[in-house]
Amino acid sequence: MPEQIPPYSAQACPRCHQSFACKATHIGTCQCMAISLSKEQSAFINQQYATCLCISCLHDLRQEYVQQELISIK
Ligand SMILES: [Zn+2]
Repeated sequence: MPEQIPPYSAQACPRCHQSFACKATHIGTCQCMAISLSKEQSAFINQQYATCLCISCLHDLRQEYVQQELISIK
């Protein structure tokens, strides 16, 4: 079971271990909102990481997803 994470707190990104502020209870100001992810893209990220990621890792993973998709299309 994952630990209960306070909804408004700094946490470490599980991918790059940088700390960032997750503002899930203030969704309009959370950095997750600064990047537009499709349902499929967020599912892809959720499969790999149980918690939020920092914005730069979200960008990286979105890029990874796009590349995988390109590979599977051909
Ligand atoms: Zn990160």
